[in-house]
Amino acid sequence: MSGLFLFRDNGKRVGSEKQLAQMRANMVEYQLRRRGIKDERVLKAFLKVPRHKFVRSQDIWHAYEDYPLSIGYGQTISQPYMVAIMTELLELKGEERVLEIGTGSGYQAAILAELAKEVFSIERIPELAHKAEKILQELGYTNFKVIVGDGSKGLPEYAPYDAIIVTAAAPRPPQSLLEQLKDKGRLVIPVGSRKLQDLLRITRFGNEFKMENFGPCLFVPLIGEAGWKSESFEEAEGQ
Ligand code: SAM
Repeated sequence: MSGLFLFRDNGKRVGSEKQLAQMRANMVEYQLRRRGIKDERVLKAFLKVPRHKFVRSQDIWHAYEDYPLSIGYGQTISQPYMVAIMTELLELKGEERVLEIGTGSGYQAAILAELAKEVFSIERIPELAHKAEKILQELGYTNFKVIVGDGSKGLPEYAPYDAIIVTAAAPRPPQSLLEQLKDKGRLVIPVGSRKLQDLLRITRFGNEFKMENFGPCLFVPLIGEAGWKSESFEEAEGQ
């Protein structure tokens, strides 16, 4: 049994840490590195953070496959490759103050906590925020703060930020997020319709903003003052 730690869920054997670590290493090699993720710090963070702790117990064996998974409340933990692209686009070096909109499971926040000095993460669904906060604490992170609220307005009390990442789809880049960026700060955000978005990186240069488009993506909606007004697909499409 050396090196093999079985853990149980409701008395049922659901996995072994050793096998899961091997699956995580495969994910990093085949789904991230070989598909173009180059930043070694980002790859190292993905190798370290146990994604299986952030998914529902019935999904543990799918945690290292390259697709989003349900986390309840109609929300998802994003596909690892998308989390990696978005993280790489933030160009974190280790000294940054980062804001994440859409804590969800807390997985992206854990990756950010590995790569930046301070992480603030906002989630509108209190149950998800509390659960994510608990997992992050259990994993030993101390450089993060999870806040319940409408992140479409940003988090002015801790602004400005070196980097802001929005992990839900916005109809347009929220003005408050642009204003809360530091000079040369980066905002990474999916922008478009409810059915399809473009992944944008917007970099601030004084009062100018440079926009780069990294192609199509699909996220759950950003619901709030500067996002979509409703969870309802039909209603939201009319906005
Ligand atoms: N980053 C997450 C992770 O690592 O699991 C995945 C996020 S999930 C794709 C999008 C999240 O954004 C959902 O949990 C949703 O509740 C949240 N959300 C949507 N609108 C929001 C808003 N205005 N403020 C904060 N969170 C919001």
